[in-house]
Amino acid sequence: MVISMGEFANVLYEKAFKIWGADAQIQMAVEEAGELIVSLAKLQRASNGATVDDVLDELVDNEIMNEQMRLIFDYTVNGQSQFVKRKAEKLNRLAARLDSFRDKEEKK
Ligand SMILES: [Mg+2]
Repeated sequence: MVISMGEFANVLYEKAFKIWGADAQIQMAVEEAGELIVSLAKLQRASNGATVDDVLDELVDNEIMNEQMRLIFDYTVNGQSQFVKRKAEKLNRLAARLDSFRDKEEKK
């Protein structure tokens, strides 16, 4: 049987929670967020030999930690993931802002 990368990741995340606990994973998420901030700042300054690959590594680290944070913090109401609900709301808000920006540009 072949499992998807998402299923494989979820198996690993559950093992991580059992071995290290949710609090340790939350702390790791904080540390990885900091590493992403530093990698982006260094790339912007184009110093310290920072590269796009450094940023990609941190983006992957953050995605892995964000997926774990979602397993910890997401909950459902009437069968709906509140993460998915909020993401849809925020994407709709972004779409509205972009439409508003486009309308203002067209009036210039
Ligand atoms: Mg990292």
